[in-house]
Parts: sequence; C-alpha cells; structure tokens
Amino acid sequence: MKKHNFYAGPSILSEYTIRNTADAILNFAGTELSILEVSHRSKEFVAVMDEARALVKELLDVPEGYSVLFLGGGASMQFCMVPFNLLAKKAAYLETGTWAVNAIKEARIFGDVDVVGSSKDSNFSYIPKGYTVPADADYFHFTSNNTIYGTELRTDPDAGSVRLVADMSSDIFSRPVDVAKYDLIYAGAQKNLAPAGVTIVIVRDEALGHVDRLIPTMLDYRTHIKKESMFNTPPVLPIYSAMQTLRWYKQLGGVKELEKMDIAKAGKLYDAIDSSRMFVGTVTDPADRSIMNVCFVMKPEYKELEKDFVDFAATKGIVGIKGHRSVGGFRASLYNALPMESVDVLVAAMKEFQDKH
Ligand SMILES: *Cc1c(COP(=O)(O)O)cnc(C)c1O
Repeated sequence: MKKHNFYAGPSILSEYTIRNTADAILNFAGTELSILEVSHRSKEFVAVMDEARALVKELLDVPEGYSVLFLGGGASMQFCMVPFNLLAKKAAYLETGTWAVNAIKEARIFGDVDVVGSSKDSNFSYIPKGYTVPADADYFHFTSNNTIYGTELRTDPDAGSVRLVADMSSDIFSRPVDVAKYDLIYAGAQKNLAPAGVTIVIVRDEALGHVDRLIPTMLDYRTHIKKESMFNTPPVLPIYSAMQTLRWYKQLGGVKELEKMDIAKAGKLYDAIDSSRMFVGTVTDPADRSIMNVCFVMKPEYKELEKDFVDFAATKGIVGIKGHRSVGGFRASLYNALPMESVDVLVAAMKEFQDKH
C-alpha cells in the first residue's frame, strides 16, 4: 500500500532525492565507487559541496558577505555554538517551545539571557507579540517554526539594530527569507532537506570575532568558513542528499513556488479541522498556525477515540500522525516533499472516521 508519510523528523524526502541518493550509493558520479566510500576531498565530492552551497545561496538569495556552512552536531549543537560565538554580555530570546527552551538553557552558560516573550503559559500554543528587544542585546534569537506545537512566525521580525538569529530547522525553504535582516540562520536538515546528520548555517562573516572568550576550534564558525566546511570530515551522504533536494527545489521553481504549495496543503487540512465536529486545532489564532506542522486533537466528547483514529488512519497508509507527547492528539507534518495527495487521503480519513462515530 502507498504510504502517506507525516513524520515530523526525520521526515519525508522527495522520490527525486531518495532515488538519486540510492544511485550514488551504488555508483557515485561515474566513479564506480559508492559515495559511502570516497574521500570527502575527492574532486567529485568537492563538486557536490560547491553545488550544495551555491544552491542554498541561490534559493534563499543570500547576499554578499555571508557564508553557508554544512556542519555536524544537529541543530542542537547550534544552541551552544551561537552564544559561544556571538554572546558577549547579554542575548534576547523568544521562548516559543521546547527547542527555544533548550537554546535558552545553553545561552545562559555564556551570559545573561533576557527572555523577551514567552507562550509557556498556554503550552506554547501561540507566538508572543508586543515584546521589546533591548537595544543592548548582542542578538535576538527566535525559532521560526515550532515543530512540536505547530506555531510559526512567517515574517522576519524587526529587532532594530540588534543582530537577528533564527532556528529555521523545520521551515527553511518554505518561504522567501530576507537573509540580509539576519546575522545567523541555522537549520538541521532532517525536517525539510535531507537525512539527519547535517545542519546548514548561514552566517554574516562580519558578525564574528566580537567576543573575547577562547572558542574551541570545532565550535568556531570561522574555522568552518576558512575551510569551506571541510575542516574535518563533513557528513558526506546527508550533504549529497541535500544537494539533490536543492536541485529539485530549483526545478520546482524555488521557494516562492514551494510556499504556494505549502500554503495550499496546510489550508486544506486546517479547513477540514475547522469544519469538523470531532477535531479541533490546538493553535487557535490563524496567524500563528504553522504550514509545516499541523497540530490537532479530538474535542473532549470524542477524546477516547484518539487512539482509534491513529489505527484507522494506518489502514489508509497514513503514517506518523501521532502528536508529540507534550501536546497529544495528532500532528501532521506537511513538509515540502509531501504531495497534496497525502493531505487529501488524510482529510478523507478524518471525514470517514467522523461519519462512523
Ligand atoms: C528538530 C528540531 C531541532 C533539533 O534538531 P537536532 O538536529 O535533532 O538537534 C531544533 N530546532 C527545531 C525547530 C527543530 O524542529
């Protein structure tokens, strides 16, 4: 049976990415060797790295003066690398979920953290508004998409003259971003790009070198800028897959087109939830609703049917819709590679289940 993959991460990749990755595992770039067994310094792999870097720059329209890095350690490694490199005295953070909480915890190791806004009071079901970023903060950090809670900030916030840093792990390449507003953007690959193991960092070169502390070589962005992400062995296979996904994004027409498709998919699912007597969205303000992760639960009178719905959905080939344990209910992740057909199957399953009960 055809599967409809709604996992939150690692998550669905395009058939284009998976087939081309499988081909390269058997015979990489005509070398008659597997990509799993070639040197990262071979000319064939250096070409992959160069193309992946160039495609990130092209798709996100990255201006001059920025470096694009492919690093190991996951997005969680960035929670400490960011303050290690940028926090001299004080940083401002927006607390919008578990990942933001984890980032704040690491930043506190390096200096003062001003949590300028938080939605903790209602289990992170909205994006805080009306907060002020202190002008003397070294940077302002926010999470653009809260993967677990289904909230998203789809505009580039204004932090005045304060440097802007964003964790875009679960919504990068789902909309055009005004990179010039940011000093640093990072994103783990396993949500919208590639298998787990690589993290993209886009950093303004000029933002670095302003802290006094010693930075371990591997955690210093300047090391990786100087060595073009080849200071040590990079995650070769995830970078290859990322390059394939980026090629596919370009063929589809770039991030503007991806955004249109993502909005259409999410719109259809939110409509189905909002018009249902059985299901209800956990994020009530439409402006805060994520187009990547749609979180919903059953209304109190049907609550005991939640597990049955997961089982029923599985009979339709639907995989990965169980909500994160901190929210419960359901979470349907609609990353770029998920076809509209899968949303249609989920919406039909919701209607059929509702009609039965
Ligand atoms: C998944 C996720 C992370 C953690 O990523 P790792 O690569 O597992 O460290 C961080 N931030 C956001 C927004 C995420 O969705």
